[in-house]
Amino acid sequence: MSTEHGNYIDGDWIESESGETFAVSNPANKNEILGTYQQSTSDDAKAAIEAAVAAQDEWASTPAPERGAVLKRTADALEARKDELTKTLTTEEGKTLSEAGGEVQRAIDIFTYYAEKTRDLGGTMKAASAGNKQLYTKLEPLGTVSLITPWNYPIAIPAWKLAPALATGNTVVFKPASAAPGVSLKLVECLEQAGLPGGVVNYVTGSGSDVGAPLSEHGEIDAVSFTGSTAIGTIVAQTATEDLKRVQCEMGGKNPTVVMPSADLTDAVDIVGSGAFGVTGQACTACSRAIVHEEVYDEFVAEIVDYAESLTVGDGTDDVDMGPHVTESELDETLEYVNVGREDGATLETGGNRLTGDEYDDGYFVEPTVFSDVNADMRIAQEEIFGPVLAVLSVSDFEEAVAVANGVEFGLSASIVTDDLSEGHRFIEGVEAGVAKVNEKTTGLELHVPFGGYKQSSTNTYREQGDAGLDFFTSIKTAYLNY
Ligand code: NAP
Repeated sequence: MSTEHGNYIDGDWIESESGETFAVSNPANKNEILGTYQQSTSDDAKAAIEAAVAAQDEWASTPAPERGAVLKRTADALEARKDELTKTLTTEEGKTLSEAGGEVQRAIDIFTYYAEKTRDLGGTMKAASAGNKQLYTKLEPLGTVSLITPWNYPIAIPAWKLAPALATGNTVVFKPASAAPGVSLKLVECLEQAGLPGGVVNYVTGSGSDVGAPLSEHGEIDAVSFTGSTAIGTIVAQTATEDLKRVQCEMGGKNPTVVMPSADLTDAVDIVGSGAFGVTGQACTACSRAIVHEEVYDEFVAEIVDYAESLTVGDGTDDVDMGPHVTESELDETLEYVNVGREDGATLETGGNRLTGDEYDDGYFVEPTVFSDVNADMRIAQEEIFGPVLAVLSVSDFEEAVAVANGVEFGLSASIVTDDLSEGHRFIEGVEAGVAKVNEKTTGLELHVPFGGYKQSSTNTYREQGDAGLDFFTSIKTAYLNY
């Protein structure tokens, strides 16, 4: 029997007024139902918003270090449950235990980081242009904010939105993705256990149209922070800005790694391979395009194919390199792009098939896939494929490599592998991406520096993480105090 989980509204775990639930199953074994969650309605979302609005004044007037103490106790509660959360994440999203453990640790570190930040919240005193006058700024919370998150990092992304929102005195309505709501529910339990007052965080599960849409449009929501696809994020941004809400949408990517002839080829293959196939390619920052100098192209293709074929695929709770896709529809989409690549004339070097056989039949497993002979205008070189599919393109010099890297509508993360320092600098200057890396994979972020995309990867309004995370959730008031 699977457990039925409630919404968390105004400090109580309650059922949706719809009386309906939806089930979440293990992507490595679809017959294993992990839990059922509330199929909430727009009225449930409105009740959550009302609770958050009612709790806002008191939370905003709680001294910031006291808010920080709640965040620190949340980090401690997460730490105490780390093994359980890691297993929950693997069984509902599919990534391996080692990847899931890293993600849960990231959530712990984020809460610790923003807990400490609460002591430094304040403003700036400036020189006034008259005597007996003070001129200064102070930061104020926005009020009540909506957080809408995707399934692929179902604890780290909620953590990097919740912690700065709470640190700065906002109250929250949080809608997790329907494919993986369990580990974020446990995060909310940890907030409750840490003594967060009722109403400050409200957690509502349900579909994007029934729950997500009201969270973007409701008049009492002051800001919306969304992470997910560019298609949905664009709708959210348009809806939220109709009445001038502050909005931040971080969205899809088509991330390149450029490989230059000076690079150590083994390092380059590790950087591209781990960026492309880590977390089953289900990362917004996953490497989807290897843009390789023609001098080393053939050798690179041979080695990246060996890399892909060396990976073991299976249930993430076993000792494997790559887990399944999160859902059947995500698997189908990846297989569809394999067909598109073939039809458009790229060479399928390895992979491209759903895995079958005893351990695979009940899960959503796909082979790590490499295409060569990819032209920059092919769909597999232009569109986000949220799976372990790498397109390898050939270029004849550095300038062409940067032009190809930039020749897509996205601009999230980009990297180059080179031994030439000047190329490294020029790449950082020339690449159109919010994250530019030299000799590092496109995935992997540090939590105390800004993160966000260029072009269709982001609304480009505010960055997330680090101090930028605090900026999004605060308004600046400028005080002129004459005495
Ligand atoms: P998605 O389909 O866009 O969903 C994201 C969230 O929006 C989910 O909670 C979804 O709810 C909700 N939603 C759906 N329709 C909505 C609507 N009309 N109004 C408001 N909310 C709505 O994305 P996903 O499949 O979960 O995640 C994968 C995508 O996220 C990829 O494109 C990836 O690149 C991107 N991503 C970006 C970043 C980044 O920082 N740039 C990080 C991670 C992922 P349901 O789940 O109930 O449909």
